Amino acid sequence: MTIRTAELLSIGTELTVGETRDTNSGDLARELPGRGVIVRRIVALPDDVDVLREAFTAATERSDLVVSTGGLGPTPDDLTREAIAAMLGERPSVDPGLERWLRGLFERRRIPFPEANRKQAWLIPSAEAIPNSNGTAPGWLVRTPGGSVIVALPGPPREMIPMWRDHVLPALEAKGLGAAATVRILRLAGIGESVVAARLGSLLDPAARPAVATYARAEGVDVRISAVHDGDDATGDPEALVGDVERRILELLGEHVWARGRTTWGEALAVALERRAWRLAVVEIGLRGALGTLLGEGLGERLLEDDALADPAARRGASVASLAAERRRATGADVGLAAAVRARGDDTAVSVAVDGPIGTRSERRVVFMGGPIGRGRAAIAAADVLLAYLEGRPAGKRTAHGRSRPATVSRT
Ligand code: ATP
Ligand code: MG
Repeated sequence: MTIRTAELLSIGTELTVGETRDTNSGDLARELPGRGVIVRRIVALPDDVDVLREAFTAATERSDLVVSTGGLGPTPDDLTREAIAAMLGERPSVDPGLERWLRGLFERRRIPFPEANRKQAWLIPSAEAIPNSNGTAPGWLVRTPGGSVIVALPGPPREMIPMWRDHVLPALEAKGLGAAATVRILRLAGIGESVVAARLGSLLDPAARPAVATYARAEGVDVRISAVHDGDDATGDPEALVGDVERRILELLGEHVWARGRTTWGEALAVALERRAWRLAVVEIGLRGALGTLLGEGLGERLLEDDALADPAARRGASVASLAAERRRATGADVGLAAAVRARGDDTAVSVAVDGPIGTRSERRVVFMGGPIGRGRAAIAAADVLLAYLEGRPAGKRTAHGRSRPATVSRT
């Protein structure tokens, strides 16, 4: 059998009352589409054994794989095992091997074994234990009579994630997890999601193969192209299909693509600087460190200096071009980048200049929104101008979330 569909259950009243944010289901959901598994539902559930039993029953009837997190602790409100056992009509009993391992954990720390923890050594006939190297709660891997698979993992992410990676994925792959999928992600800047969607038109059709989807992210808009290798030759080779559609999308939107996959701005700029063997000095004015935060760790030793001046008056009327040149000279960097913002109505105006061996480039853009969101977008505009400079591409036909001014480029 192959696992093609999945549902994720996040268990714990702490989630349904909003005390804890559910990060587990998102972390798990990210793992699945690239392996050809469609996530059909993500649900948060309280610590109520009847609610849990119903949820496991319904989910296993609909989907091939059900992954739960939480509720494997020793306390009476940890009821995941009870719910799965009740659903299958099986009685849990203490597994001697698990009990020995569990008692060993407490002996090692010279703590008397709490009787409540015994239920963490439970198994049912249909379950095998998933080892937990970072806690006292082993997981369960269950095969239901209907042929679906339940994976029950503990709630704490530092326990759950290694168990998923080291034990669950290999076990599921052996059972036939999904199918290979070809996935390409194009990262776009200087264009809003709705404009992207309008240009993509029918490529976004939910029934289209390969599937194309857009995601508005803090760093820009991502376009994701994916096809599952399902052995259905009628629709053609997925690798080739994805390649064809990628070429069409590049024709429509290529001038906005600044990276692929999960590349960050810092990484994209680091690669471009590396290629030229240049080092960068940055001065940001009024951005409150937003540019430094965006470039983050990614730039490594390519970043010589990052100076964040809080007060726009610190410019003292100097143009960003002269600030970039001054910073370049003062630090001995190959390239200077200067960016300054000021409020423009409810939006943010950003002036950017790059000064380096191939000349000076200045650009002004107005980005949508003020405050921290506006500063974040202004930082992206600055990174975008710098990347275009480093790659020797023209920048200027770009629109920053809708509006822009033409660039001025001068050669030195
Ligand atoms: P334990 O043995 O630690 O009790 P458990 O399987 O019973 O494990 P829970 O009691 O449900 O897990 O949750 C323990 C902790 O794990 C929570 O307090 C929370 O910090 C974290 N946690 C639980 N569920 C999630 C989730 N869906 N997303 C993020 N963190 C979670
Ligand atoms: Mg618990």
